[in-house]
Amino acid sequence: MRCPYCENTDTKVIDSRPTEDGHAIRRRRECERCGRRFTTYEKVEESIIMVVKKDGRREAFDRNKMMNGIIKACEKRPVSLADIEKMSGEIERGLNNLMEKEVKSSFIGELVMDKLKDIDQVAYVRFASVYRQFTDVNTFISEIEKLMGKKPGGKDTMIRIAIDGPSGAGKSTVAKAVAGRLGIDYIDTGAMYRALGYKMKLKGVEPVEDERLAELLESTDIDFRAGDIYLDGEIVNDKIRTPEMSMAASACSALAMVRRKLVELQQNMAASKSVIMDGRDIGTVVLPDAELKYFITASAEERASRRYKELMEKGQDVSYDSILSDIIERDHNDSTREVTPLRQADDAVLLDTTLMTAEEVVNRICTDAGKML
Ligand code: C5P
Repeated sequence: MRCPYCENTDTKVIDSRPTEDGHAIRRRRECERCGRRFTTYEKVEESIIMVVKKDGRREAFDRNKMMNGIIKACEKRPVSLADIEKMSGEIERGLNNLMEKEVKSSFIGELVMDKLKDIDQVAYVRFASVYRQFTDVNTFISEIEKLMGKKPGGKDTMIRIAIDGPSGAGKSTVAKAVAGRLGIDYIDTGAMYRALGYKMKLKGVEPVEDERLAELLESTDIDFRAGDIYLDGEIVNDKIRTPEMSMAASACSALAMVRRKLVELQQNMAASKSVIMDGRDIGTVVLPDAELKYFITASAEERASRRYKELMEKGQDVSYDSILSDIIERDHNDSTREVTPLRQADDAVLLDTTLMTAEEVVNRICTDAGKML
């Protein structure tokens, strides 16, 4: 690696560790000639995604270009470079997980806004103003009113969107993008079951309704802040996204005791603000009065190949066949369990993502929501 100060090619690595999100290796190097130190990152090369611009031109997705836009919006704001790098990494992985060869630049913009809104609302409005081409001060006011949960023009508004469907159908990708576009909170209820399953494993509590489980539930706190899931105050985003935790979540989610506790938490989260919530029982049990309800599905094979790609990118050693059989088993558990099985609510709209792109689904939901706001 060439020294950026004196151009010497002999440099030695003095420290090497994974980045916080585990998706790259950060190396601290020292030049053997001038003795100065610098940092390099090594990461897996992702497949190329083409970005379709507003005028129809196409160019390869460039993470640095996206990051520069975010850095500009965050100028003089209390947002660290580490936050910006983390956010950019998550967006890039989200794009790769879509498994689309092309995405519209507008879709990426919405993903960025979704993240920025949770991290810094001033940066969010700055980014949105450039990105959505705000032309006058009223556009700013109406965006800020949306951020504050008010109907543009002053009247308070609340919209609750329920998304249900089997594992890996693309619910969370869609829900996150819709949340960003509408400026409302996203609540991933599957992550809550995963977090609980993780804690049960950690504490050696079996998935049976007994006193140990009751005590564990009593002392468990699960919350979302700035897009991260907190279990008893600790961020557990990555720890809960393994095949083992998928099965642990599926097992604990069949227990009435567990569902009572998590449904209550979820209802409290949606009590006083607009939300989009995804899971298995949102339209039927958690938010039966939701203003909009969707049941998102896709074939088991399509869902397995999406999950396989996602886990491979995270560096997990998995096989497609075992993921497919896990998905089939979880589908079976989720739809045949006695307590609130997975079921499409009578008034939910069915969307099959085997036949639709994520962007089409997002557009459909945002159009429906737009009519109500
Ligand atoms: O959506 P995700 O795959 O992360 O959910 C993990 C597991 O949690 C599901 O397989 C399902 O068993 C359970 N779950 C549930 N009810 C919800 C959300 C998730 O039973 N509302």
